[in-house]
Amino acid sequence: MTEKIKVKTPIVEIDGDEMTRVMWKMVKDKLLLPYLDMQTEYYDLGLKKRDETEDQITIDAANAIKKYKVGVKCATITPNADRVKEYNLKKQWKSPNGTIREILDGTVFRAPILVKNIKPFVRNWKKPIHIGRHAYGDVYKNQEIAVPGPGKGEIVFTPSDGKEPIRRTIQDFAGPGVLQGIHNTDQSIESFAKACFAYAFDQKIDIWFSTKDTISKTYDARFREIFNSEYETNWKDKFEQAGITYFFTLIDDAVARIMKSEGGMLWACKNYDGDVMSDMLASAYGSLAMMTSVLVSPDNYFEYEAAHGTVQKHYYKHQAGEKTSTNSMALIFAWTGCLKKRGELDNTPEVGAFAQKLEQAALGTVENGIMTGDLLEVADENPNNKKVNTEDFMDHIKQNLDKKLQ
Ligand code: NAP
Ligand code: MG
Repeated sequence: MTEKIKVKTPIVEIDGDEMTRVMWKMVKDKLLLPYLDMQTEYYDLGLKKRDETEDQITIDAANAIKKYKVGVKCATITPNADRVKEYNLKKQWKSPNGTIREILDGTVFRAPILVKNIKPFVRNWKKPIHIGRHAYGDVYKNQEIAVPGPGKGEIVFTPSDGKEPIRRTIQDFAGPGVLQGIHNTDQSIESFAKACFAYAFDQKIDIWFSTKDTISKTYDARFREIFNSEYETNWKDKFEQAGITYFFTLIDDAVARIMKSEGGMLWACKNYDGDVMSDMLASAYGSLAMMTSVLVSPDNYFEYEAAHGTVQKHYYKHQAGEKTSTNSMALIFAWTGCLKKRGELDNTPEVGAFAQKLEQAALGTVENGIMTGDLLEVADENPNNKKVNTEDFMDHIKQNLDKKLQ
């Protein structure tokens, strides 16, 4: 065995729950620690620990990412009423992802992991379509009224400085109906724009942004204006040098063009568009377990994770002593994404090169037909395809990696 590769700066390691917690340890023990001399700042966001610390551990983890700039996170349970009972919790703690996102003011970007023998359902998609969703405001933070009968529906803004309120009639109702008020803030849209440009520049891919500004001439137009100004002020020169472009179009035009494209861009989406389109992309590319996710803050903090949850059903089988066939690709790619970024910031290309080899070893394993159950269902048919269990899948990747490192 050759000498271990040194990772200069500690990595913020955020552990989680259930089956992903089980796989997290396997990934570290089998695929990382034998090769890397790596320190981590460890935060246990397992539900028990969050309950013990009154969720302070989540806040500490987010602040650690601010300090070190790069972290990697396992999937965590967002407790509901059932989980409160199951874990005997003090209360129904908030989603850790939400808490971390708020502290870092970050945007979540997702991208599929492509292998040759799993074809996207859209046949001309050759490269990953990355998606960035603005996760603040609009219909997700609205007020709604069920209109009982005839009357006037209005929208009113009352300035804090005592000036005249601004008032508009939305509809003079002749009978029952529904009414909704939504908002966004310049600050949140600016952070979103900054994160999108930072991500696209980091990945060296074009960015597409789409709204419905022909219809929504003030609200959606504000998004277009802020993106435009952020681009002109901070990115135009950098983008031109890198040979990448910023493209704005209407959401319906974007949808039509995306279907005919070969992929390979970042698609920046407003909150609702991103909610809908990210699920469409995940299923069109094959599996949620083949989807990476990274939280990028406008201050250039990065938190890498898998797009899927804790795979609860598999965990109960595992606890019952049964073998599962759970896919660790997205978790492995969370680690490699984190290591590549760490290597880049530390100026240690050997760390990035190791991460690259680990990715190739993982992709090669699936391309050789060694698969977990979820992949077997969507892969091209081949008599050599073989379903393996969670642990054997990682052992195959390790064998592949050892060959690449020789
Ligand atoms: P999930 O964990 O993503 O799993 C849903 C289903 O998708 C699984 O039952 C499994 O299908 C399949 N699947 C997902 N990941 C897989 C993998 N790596 N390998 C193989 N199959 C995989 O979603 P969930 O069951 O709705 O949520 C479970 C818990 O995760 C919840 O407590 C939720 O709060 C949490 N969650 C956390 C995050 C996060 O931290 N990022 C995100 C989402 C959800 P089959 O059972 O058919 O095999
Ligand atoms: Mg959705």
